Amino acid sequence: MRLSLPANGASRGSALGRARVRLPHVLEVTEQRIEDVDAELDRLHDAIRVVRGEMRALRQRLQGVLAQEVGEFLELHALLLDDPELLQGLDALIRKERYSADYALRLQRDRIAAIFTGMDDAYLRTRIDDIDQVISRIHAALHRRETDVSGVAGEIVVADNIAPTDMLQLQSQGVMAVVTAGGSTLSHSAILARSLHLPLVVGVAQALSKINDGDVLVVDGGIGLVVRDPDADDLRAHRARTREYARERKQLNRLRREPSRTRDGVDIKLWANAESREDVAESHALGAAGIGLYRTEFLFLNSRVLPDEDTQFRAYRDLVLGMTGRTVTIRTLDVGADKADRTGLALGNEPNPALGVRGVRLSMRNPGLFEAQLRAIVRASGYGPVRLLVPMVCCREEMVAVRSLLRKVVADLRREGHEVADAIPVGAMIEVPAAAIAVPGFVGLTDFLSIGTNDLVQYLLAIDRNNEALADLYTPLHPAVLRLLQSVITLANKRGIPVAVCGEMASEPDFVPLLLALGLVEFSMHPGTLLEVRRAIRACDLTTLRARAPALLRAGDRAAIQAWLDDNRPAAG
Ligand code: PEP
Ligand code: MG
Repeated sequence: MRLSLPANGASRGSALGRARVRLPHVLEVTEQRIEDVDAELDRLHDAIRVVRGEMRALRQRLQGVLAQEVGEFLELHALLLDDPELLQGLDALIRKERYSADYALRLQRDRIAAIFTGMDDAYLRTRIDDIDQVISRIHAALHRRETDVSGVAGEIVVADNIAPTDMLQLQSQGVMAVVTAGGSTLSHSAILARSLHLPLVVGVAQALSKINDGDVLVVDGGIGLVVRDPDADDLRAHRARTREYARERKQLNRLRREPSRTRDGVDIKLWANAESREDVAESHALGAAGIGLYRTEFLFLNSRVLPDEDTQFRAYRDLVLGMTGRTVTIRTLDVGADKADRTGLALGNEPNPALGVRGVRLSMRNPGLFEAQLRAIVRASGYGPVRLLVPMVCCREEMVAVRSLLRKVVADLRREGHEVADAIPVGAMIEVPAAAIAVPGFVGLTDFLSIGTNDLVQYLLAIDRNNEALADLYTPLHPAVLRLLQSVITLANKRGIPVAVCGEMASEPDFVPLLLALGLVEFSMHPGTLLEVRRAIRACDLTTLRARAPALLRAGDRAAIQAWLDDNRPAAG
């Protein structure tokens, strides 16, 4: 029977297909005994071989593409697959206790988890997630053979949650769309789905209880739609949306070589947020002004050892070379809070990690590590224009300290005979409300500003950006957010300090008129949305929007701000 499920769209695109339900973990498996021990061991070993092969294939496919981002995850998972403790334990449970492979997986997982949970260490806690993912893969491989289902191509995967590595694998297997019960539109998996152009719908709380394997689904990651057993109207609407997406893609592609210019002739600078070589290539091809945000933590987050100066230097140099003379903005390490790492760098036991040792605070407490990162960035500046961006800045003192360390690093490298750019502009992320309010105090210490609305909204509204229960409240459409944005942008414009927004807000074409009205002329976004933002800009008249800014700033609540957006929606064309 037709059923429409409440959902949030996280990555655009419409799909019609059969559901493939992936159950959360083996934890649901109940006790089962088997007769034929050897056959069960073969079954388990075959499944492990299949998973090893999948990992190898994925790793190969990754070369040059998203390699640094997920490659380390895969390496770690491959190591776990060969872990004698895991494998011998499984064999023993089947041999001695005559448990089924499924039940042995569950018991072994629970044993390992019990050991880890006894230890109060963030790094070990993240390893439990890895073990869960590896065990889930083996479990999935056991069942794929049992049900003799070949691949998931052309299907819609329904799951509790999807890890970034799995997102990539699903896309490579030809999955049409993904529906998750949990997840947020800002999660790293969602950002990855957008970059892979894989339709994704998140927060479908009833997904696992209401959708069964084989159910026919219509999914739309643009409008946040999941319909089980669609009727004729749904099918018609899906066809219309598919045609519309295809038409839109074609239209957007025509904008690849067009300027990002408003109707009244003002050029708006569009930077790209790039995280992989693929992003860099796409940003270049779409005519991005440069890279406005490169999150270096992805070099660290997926690695069990800290990347040294040379490793970092090579990554930054390749990024700079990939942009062939366009400016690249490299953000220093922003580990901490929700970005837990595997190196154990971030403190694992903070009572309130979002307000804890993250971003520049962590860098300042690890001077050796910070200096190695600055050296790598400065060395990369010998290959093309580089800007340095400092995350989580709260007070002037932090910028003073970073600039002083940078001066020392530049002097050292010149003395050592390295080629270093004449100037490396240094900018502050404006994502802590205190820094946004105190921004006049940063004049002279910052050559440019980049507003991180993802965190600014979270800290200003006291709403955790990753808390699904508050997802409906987490929005930049709040009068306090708009006033703060306007004050930062106006001050920067007056003092001639370039200012961009690099949070997800800048990727949303619907918000373009609002940001233009507030005085913004630089946007930084994932390349996957650059053409849509360009199209929105080309449909706007800047003079008219600026004249309507006072009305926007008078809007007292979300409904009034939304009404302003509706009144100022650029005409499609
Ligand atoms: C932000 O906070 O808006 C931002 C761009 O940084 P991140 O999402 O990496 O915290
Ligand atoms: Mg941030």
